[in-house]
Amino acid sequence: MKASGLLAQGYRVWGLGDFVQLLITLVIGDTVLDNRRSPFSDLTGSLTGLESARLDWAGADGKPDAPYSLAFDDVYFSRQDGRAETEHVFIQGNHLPERFANWQDARPFVIGETGFGTGLNMLCAWACFDTYAPADARLHLVSTEKHPLTQDDLRRALTAWPEFADQARVLVNQWPEPVRGAYRLILSDRVVLDLHLGDSVECLTHLDGRVDAWFLDGFAPSKNPDMWQPELFQAMAVHSRPQATFATFTCAGIVKRGLKAAGFEWAKAPGFGRKREMLRGHIATPPADTSRQQAPWFTPPSHQSPQQPNRHIAIIGAGLAGASTAEALARRGVQVTLIDQEAPGAGASGNRQGALYVKLAAETNLQSRFYLAGLLYTRRLLERLDPERQLWDDCGVLQLAMTDKEARRQKTFLRNHALPASVVEGITAAEASHRAGVALTHGGLDYPGAGWVRPAALCQRLVAHPGIFFRQAEVMTLEHYEAGWRLGLADGDSVSVDQVVVANAWQASNFLPLEWLPLKPIRGQVSELHLLPDASIAPLKRVVCAGGYVLPVLEGVQSFGATFAPGDTQSDLREADNATNLAEFKHMLPAYAEKLRASGVDFNPAGLNGRASLRAASPDKSPYAGPVPDAPAWRKDYALLQKNARRAPAIAGRHHLGLWTSAAHGSRGLASAPLCAEVLASRICDEPMPLERELIDHLHPGRRLIRELITGG
Ligand code: SAM
Repeated sequence: MKASGLLAQGYRVWGLGDFVQLLITLVIGDTVLDNRRSPFSDLTGSLTGLESARLDWAGADGKPDAPYSLAFDDVYFSRQDGRAETEHVFIQGNHLPERFANWQDARPFVIGETGFGTGLNMLCAWACFDTYAPADARLHLVSTEKHPLTQDDLRRALTAWPEFADQARVLVNQWPEPVRGAYRLILSDRVVLDLHLGDSVECLTHLDGRVDAWFLDGFAPSKNPDMWQPELFQAMAVHSRPQATFATFTCAGIVKRGLKAAGFEWAKAPGFGRKREMLRGHIATPPADTSRQQAPWFTPPSHQSPQQPNRHIAIIGAGLAGASTAEALARRGVQVTLIDQEAPGAGASGNRQGALYVKLAAETNLQSRFYLAGLLYTRRLLERLDPERQLWDDCGVLQLAMTDKEARRQKTFLRNHALPASVVEGITAAEASHRAGVALTHGGLDYPGAGWVRPAALCQRLVAHPGIFFRQAEVMTLEHYEAGWRLGLADGDSVSVDQVVVANAWQASNFLPLEWLPLKPIRGQVSELHLLPDASIAPLKRVVCAGGYVLPVLEGVQSFGATFAPGDTQSDLREADNATNLAEFKHMLPAYAEKLRASGVDFNPAGLNGRASLRAASPDKSPYAGPVPDAPAWRKDYALLQKNARRAPAIAGRHHLGLWTSAAHGSRGLASAPLCAEVLASRICDEPMPLERELIDHLHPGRRLIRELITGG
């Protein structure tokens, strides 16, 4: 595309700095210098809503409702007997009862599917697994869907199977918004579903994970030729385990040829009902996955080597990052020792109330995609952990556009992101006032599903899992030895484990293998106003933020904040910080503040309660979640990048085996830490990852080393 074409699309002319940025974007697959959009933004995918399935229902004749796709002119499942068809084609076609019964691996058995539809296939697989698999086996479902059903349609479709009522309720409750991306749903302690919303080929191409058995579904090739392309079968092949099987209801020539060309062997088998034939088969030796050729440093450390068992894992730091990682591992049956010098949730995660929100960039970038996925994941986690909502409230978050610059930014954001109003919506001051329950001077972006959480209480709830042993101690040293890792404690004792996750925020780089990791401490103080018990003022109904944030009153306390002081490592309570928070509060919510004052609330900063703590941030403001690189080895292996950023030496990244980190969650740990916990636990336990590959790489702590090599700083 010519520069004039770029300008016509709103891009400015590129300078030297942009080309350095582009090189880094190409090489490490990320916008690490800042979050501008490049002409190569396709690399980062888009954050857009998907068109929901348009259905017809044909249940008027006394039979259960059977959804019919108007767009594809085809049925979701056989009108004759949908469940029997699934059992015949997909469950028996992949020999699942026998394979489940014999499953002995510590990792989960993985099923991949094209076209989730109503979820009937996956519910049948779940039921089959519950019937046949050993008690400690786990099942991981990965499914793609381009036109998800609405939540109401899904609920209605699944009423056809009363025997699955409980499972259907779990699925419907966690059903994600129709937005492109990956969504992890924890269906039970041993069954996980990753829904990849988007086109099957695209989703499978970006999958970071491998499959044991494929359900090759989707409407008939004659009705849906776009999906049954050679690229689909190739993506399936690359993401197959050796000897992975597949089954499909169709025998169309395009399917047979595509499967064969991709390396699958197939055979015809008797079809279900009136269908004479179906296909099933396997792939003996899947092709190599070359997706990380451009960035070999992100190649994950190999799994399950005898040197790297994962029976017992220590986690350093019991804030949100550590507590959520502990829960994610314990849920997988790993024995966890969680170590912190203070009680769980005592540090930066120790505020009694915190905002669960994200600030998405005007132009789509990897960071925004991660944070939105994180926000939505945390909501599902909270829903599962605390359905009574004692720990949280999805009251909604308003991001006010209080300056012209912010108003322009929000306008650009809305133009670039066609997202459902249930995720984010631009609203006027009048509408914002209505939703917040107090008079506001500006409109802004409304995130109806965001809200607030009690972070300290959440940490305590997470670590209450019986598989987690909490030990209050200060870890001084971290040392690798033949059998794993040894942690030296300040009291002279030591703890020996198979693997370690370092999750102690800005202090993570105190440990020798992590001393190179750029982490900045940021002091933040929140303030609290105590309301008078008889004050009868209309309550604030949403979290409101602009420069700072104000939370809805909780148990008579109005919390607001927070200050932002990079490099300050003191956590004393300061009157000056209270004054700063108060000024911001009055600026954002003048009418509400005035009402509080008139009701007798004391606005004197000297008399305010509050809490200061230290958060940690990375230079690019995204968290670190992944294996810890062997920094000297990376500097040596990739030294060539200093001369030529396009020449990636074909060497897989060398890592400290069994050492991981989750850090740099800044002030948005509520949105980022739980999903990062799933990222770590999934990698440690050899499961498909909960996010697309480029987002996994975006979180990799080694990104900073590569940047350092390319830019020299
Ligand atoms: N497996 C489903 C079940 O158990 O209910 C039935 C699947 S239905 C026959 C086909 C599904 O494939 C539909 O939900 C449709 O939206 C989805 N689909 C069609 N083309 C697709 C594509 N290119 N990428 C992802 N999903 C697609």
